Amino acid sequence: MLIAANKAVSIDYTLTNDAGEVIDSSAGGAPLVYLHGAGNIIAGLEKALLDKKVGDELEVSVEPEDAYGEYSAELLATLNRSMFEGVDELEVGMQFHASGPDGSMQIVTIRELDGDDVIVDGNHPLAGQRLNFKVKVVDIRDASEEEVAHGHIHGEGGHQH
Ligand SMILES: [Zn+2]
Repeated sequence: MLIAANKAVSIDYTLTNDAGEVIDSSAGGAPLVYLHGAGNIIAGLEKALLDKKVGDELEVSVEPEDAYGEYSAELLATLNRSMFEGVDELEVGMQFHASGPDGSMQIVTIRELDGDDVIVDGNHPLAGQRLNFKVKVVDIRDASEEEVAHGHIHGEGGHQH
């Protein structure tokens, strides 16, 4: 069986940045399970996995535009401290969920504190970075109709609902 749309795919992976630092890895844990063709994983990696089979190993470098996007200075915003009501102490590096202009949830990170000004950054923490994946295909199966309808995998390693 080859990886194609609507297959449930399990992969072992290690993600490093260009400095060689490990950002994320499935080593020591369960493989990552995803629904192919549903945008569950970043586009550049999904494209590289197409037509692969169990046991295949690959190394993929994904440019920012196929990963978490280029870093955008437009996503920096200065907010007033009063908007963080209920937070005892603000610190650089803290992350908050915020709703974007289109209503979608995004994560913002505090970059700087300056008096009552809180400078937040709406870029994904990995924006602007090339991502280097080492991947091994562990399992491929047909996704169920329900999984395809939901756009994600159920059960072990997937959604529990
Ligand atoms: Zn579901």
